[in-house]
Amino acid sequence: MDFLVAALVLLLLLLYHFGKQKKLNNSTTRIFHLFLLIAICDVALEIVCTILMVYEIPAIAVLSKMLLSIFYFMQILFPYFVVYYTQTLRRTSLAVIHKSMKFWAVIPLIMAFLVLVNLWNGMMFSFDRMGIYHRGPYYLLMYAYGILYAFIALGMLAVYRKELVRREILIMIEVMMIEAVCVSVQAVTDTYLMTGFGIALGLIVLYLMVNNPHIYLDSVTNTFNKHYLNIWMREQLDRGKKIHILSIDVENLGRVNKVFGTEIGDKLLIRCAGELQKASEHATLFKISGRRFLLAMENLTDYEICRREAQKIFNGNFHIDGEEVSLHAAICGIVNTELIGNMDVLHAYLDYMSGLSAGSEGTTIIQSDDKIMDGFLYEQEVERFLATAIEQDLFELYFQPVYSLKKGGYDSLEALSRLRHPTLGNIPPDVFITLAEKNGQISKIGQLQFRRLCRFLKEHEVLKGTLQNVKFNISPIELLKEGHGRMLIETVKEFELDPSWIQFEITETAATEYSQTLHKVVNELQQAGLGLCLDDFGSGYANLNTVMKLPFVAIKMDRSLLHDVSSQPQAALLYKSIVEVLQKMGYEVIAEGAETKEEVQLLHHWNVDMIQGYYFSRPVSGTDIVKMLTINEEPPKC
Ligand code: C2E
Ligand code: CA
Ligand code: CA
Repeated sequence: MDFLVAALVLLLLLLYHFGKQKKLNNSTTRIFHLFLLIAICDVALEIVCTILMVYEIPAIAVLSKMLLSIFYFMQILFPYFVVYYTQTLRRTSLAVIHKSMKFWAVIPLIMAFLVLVNLWNGMMFSFDRMGIYHRGPYYLLMYAYGILYAFIALGMLAVYRKELVRREILIMIEVMMIEAVCVSVQAVTDTYLMTGFGIALGLIVLYLMVNNPHIYLDSVTNTFNKHYLNIWMREQLDRGKKIHILSIDVENLGRVNKVFGTEIGDKLLIRCAGELQKASEHATLFKISGRRFLLAMENLTDYEICRREAQKIFNGNFHIDGEEVSLHAAICGIVNTELIGNMDVLHAYLDYMSGLSAGSEGTTIIQSDDKIMDGFLYEQEVERFLATAIEQDLFELYFQPVYSLKKGGYDSLEALSRLRHPTLGNIPPDVFITLAEKNGQISKIGQLQFRRLCRFLKEHEVLKGTLQNVKFNISPIELLKEGHGRMLIETVKEFELDPSWIQFEITETAATEYSQTLHKVVNELQQAGLGLCLDDFGSGYANLNTVMKLPFVAIKMDRSLLHDVSSQPQAALLYKSIVEVLQKMGYEVIAEGAETKEEVQLLHHWNVDMIQGYYFSRPVSGTDIVKMLTINEEPPKC
C-alpha cells in the first residue's frame, strides 16, 4: 500500500505542476494529460480496492465487485494509451495515427467486454457473499494483454524509428522497462503493489523529458518556441486548416543589446511579446529565434489586424527602465502557409523574406507574393547548384583592369569569380558568394579560385612586365577559418609565384568587425610578402582607427562615394579630401566604379592613383584580358 499512496501523491503533484503551466495544444500533450488523469483514477481505485479486499466487508460485496471492475477498465485503457502515446510521437499525420488507433482498439474492446461479463461469470475475479475476493481461472488475462500491448508499443518504436526522435525512443524504452520491473515485483511478491508506482515513475520521466512544457517555451518571453511551432503547424495542416503567418524580426536587437545591455534587451522582448499577444486573441504567438516572433492565425481578418498592430508597435518607441528605445522590425507576411507545407522550407523562406529588408532603417512590411517566392526558389536552386559547382569546380575567373594615372595605362587587375548555371544562366557573384558565406562553402570556393588564379598567373608570367599586381577578393569568413591564410601562402609557393605580385582585397566591414582575429592572419600574409588592399572603403561605418592598424598598402574607394560627385559639390569635396588624407597617410588610392568620362576626369583632377570601372572595361575572361594587355590596346582616353 505504501507504494500506492506514494504513487498517488507523486501523480497529484505532477498534475498540479502540469496544470499550472502554459497550455499546449498538441496531441502528445493531450494524450499525456489523459494518461495522467487515468493514472490518478487507476491508483486511487487500486487503493480503495485493496482496502476492500483486505477488510472483506460482506455488506458491500457488490460495491467491491463494481469498483474492482472499474479498476480493471482503467487497467485496460492503460496499455492502449501507451501505444497511442507512442504513435503521437511519430512525425506523421494525425489521420494516419487515428486510423491505426481504431485498429488497435479492437483487443481493448474485447477485454472490456470480458470484464463486463465477469460481473456474472467471475472468470477473472469475484467476491463471494462474505466479501472475500477470489481469483477466477482467467485472472492472468489482464497481464497477458498488458504484455502484448507493451510489445506492440516496442514494435512500433522499431518500425517507425525513422519518424521518431532517437531520444524519445530511448525514453519510451526506459519508461516501459520501469513499468516491467514494477509489474514483475508485484507479480512475484504479491505484497509490493508497485504497478501504480511504476506508472507514476514512468509519467515523471515522460514529464521531465518529453512533455515538460518548458521544452516548448522560449525562456525569455515564455511564449511558444520553434520546436512547438513545428509540431503545432504540422497538426493544424493535418486537420486541413488554413494558416496565415506574420513573422516579426526585431532587426536592431543586437545593437540595442550592445548599447543598453542584454537585460534591457530581454525586457524589450518580453514587452514585444506582450504587445503582439494583445494584437488578436485568435492568433497564436511564437518566438522562433533570438529576435524573431511569429503570429499564426486561421482568419484573414485577424491577419490584417495583426499586421496593422505589429506595424504600430514597431513604429513607436519603447520605454524601459527610464530609457527610450526604438526597435525596428521586418514584418513578413505569408497567407495560406499550408501551401508551403514543409517546415524547413518555411523557415528558409522566412529567412529569405526578412533578408529583403536589409539596409532599410525603419520597420518594413514584406508581403509574400509570386515574385518573392520566385526569388527564393532561385536562391534555393543556386544553393543546390553550388554544391555541384564546388565538387566539379565549375567556376571561372574574370578580370577587370585597373588603370594607373601615373603610368597612363593598365597597372593591375581584379580577379572576379563567375558561375554559370545550365538553365538559369550567369549567377551574380553577389548572390553565390553571399550564399556560400552563409552556408560555410566560401572557403572551398576561395581555395578553388585562388588555385585557378595562381595557375593563370603561372601560365602568363609575361604579364609581370605590364602589371604591378593582381587583386583577389577574400571574404571575412575565409580569413577567420583556421589555416586559410597558410593555405594561400602554400599555394603561392607551390606555383612558384612572386608573392608581391598578388594583393588580397579585404572589405571594410571585415576589417572593422573582426580586427582582433584578423590581425594574426593578416600579419601572416604580409610577412609572406603578399599585398593587402582595403576594399569598399566608405561603404560601412568603419572604425578608421582599427582599420588603419592593419597593414594595408592600398585603399579602394567604394563606388557609392562616387554617386553624386558630378552634381553635388559637397560629395565632390568629401571624395577629394578623403583621397588627399589617405595619400598623405601613405596609401595608394584606387577609385572604384567609374562609369563616365566626367567621373574619370574628376578623379584625374583629384589625383587618385588608379581607377577601375566600366569606363575602361567591364570584367572580361582570362583570354580577353591577356589579349587586351599583350596587344597593348589603348585604354579609353582620360
Ligand atoms: P567587389 O570586390 O567590390 O568587386 C567590384 C564589383 O564592382 C564587380 O562586381 C565589378 O564588376 C563591379 N564594377 C566594377 N566597375 C564597375 C562600374 O563601373 N560600375 C558598376 N556598376 N559596377 C562595377 P561583380 O563581379 O559582380 O562582383 C561583385 C562582388 O562579389 C565583388 O565586389 C566581391 O565582393 C564579390 N566577389 C566576386 N568574386 C569574388 C571572389 O572570388 N571571392 C570573394 N570573396 N568575393 C568575390
Ligand atoms: Ca574587390
Ligand atoms: Ca569593391
